[in-house]
Amino acid sequence: MKEKKKLTLATKIFIALILGIIVGMALTSHSDIAVSYIKPFGTIFLNLIKWIVTPLVFFSIMAGVISMRDIKKVGSVGIKTLVYYLCTTAFAITIGLILANLFKGIFPVLQTTDLAYEAAEPVKFMDTLVGIFPSNFFAPFVEANMLQIIVASLIIGFALLLVKQQKEIEFTMVDMLNDVFMKAMEMIVALSPIGVFCLICPVVAENGPAVLGSLAKVLLVAYLGYILHAIIVYSLAVKTAAGMSPVTFFKGMMPAIMFAFSSASSVGTLPINMECTEKLGASREVTSFVLPLGATINMDGTAIYQGVCSVFIASCFGITLTFPQMLTIVLTATLASIGTAGVPGAGMVMLAMVLSSVGLPVEGIALVAGVDRIFDMGRTTVNITGDASCAIIVSAMEKRKQKA
Ligand code: ASP
Repeated sequence: MKEKKKLTLATKIFIALILGIIVGMALTSHSDIAVSYIKPFGTIFLNLIKWIVTPLVFFSIMAGVISMRDIKKVGSVGIKTLVYYLCTTAFAITIGLILANLFKGIFPVLQTTDLAYEAAEPVKFMDTLVGIFPSNFFAPFVEANMLQIIVASLIIGFALLLVKQQKEIEFTMVDMLNDVFMKAMEMIVALSPIGVFCLICPVVAENGPAVLGSLAKVLLVAYLGYILHAIIVYSLAVKTAAGMSPVTFFKGMMPAIMFAFSSASSVGTLPINMECTEKLGASREVTSFVLPLGATINMDGTAIYQGVCSVFIASCFGITLTFPQMLTIVLTATLASIGTAGVPGAGMVMLAMVLSSVGLPVEGIALVAGVDRIFDMGRTTVNITGDASCAIIVSAMEKRKQKA
């Protein structure tokens, strides 16, 4: 008997995405059905992912540190990761600014009177720095604060490493727990086609094509930026630094890309991103450190969006940004992307910080807020692809170093 060919996860997610969009379009005039009966299943799925992500990151980083056997190696991976993240983000915001200036002419000029937007308290850099270090053992898990979880697991990982060397004992328990949480994650990830369908369908039903309206051109420029950045920067990076064909990279990343697009959450996409990058050959010790960090601090898509929106908002207010102002935007957007949480809508909140850094009216955010979800789906996709490219590159570099 011929064996039935099994669909891959990527194909299943793709089918779910298309079905979700079709059903969502069919439900545009009854969006309440999609919101009341389909969205909750998407929420259940996202909740499960959020639930598994904290122990997963905690144990996988710890297991990663123990397996590296050397504190210096953690440092070398850390530095490479930070340099890559900062440089690509600065590049991303530059692409966003250049494109927005090129296409400024086609942007609509929207009414700016009667605008109201309650900006959140701007986040100060020093506060972000202090906030990285936990003051309570359990709080990082309760609040799902990724950066604090990373710091806690690094400290305990190093402590285990030192105790292991002194007492010559193996901590097999950590590996076992890591395996258990990985298995649980795989079980949840297997449900992602259903999750993707239930997440995308209500978004399409609620937003319908009409909402794009006058902002369609601004969205188009942002998406052009997302695509150009991904194709130019990530293709070049994986090709030159890891010798990987960009086609292989993007093909292998498809499940994570589609998931990020539907969920608009980098942190939510983390488990599936780990699976994709490991299948593409990145080592677990690298992915377990580079990806959680990236999901929290590396936001290239968000940076592009902030560049495009700053220019658009400025032009609606009849303001032309000067070159020094643009440089300030590059700097603040890079910092803002570090402070942006990997959850839906976070990038829009940080746009307030970027706008105020160059004296643009923060109420301008109200102009783009209506379609934020559509900006967000694209920027999250770029965010997680950037993290994955870093994991592939750093892993390849570490492997080369080991061989040398
Ligand atoms: N939703 C994005 C993410 O999770 C963050 C943002 O809003 O820009 O990566």
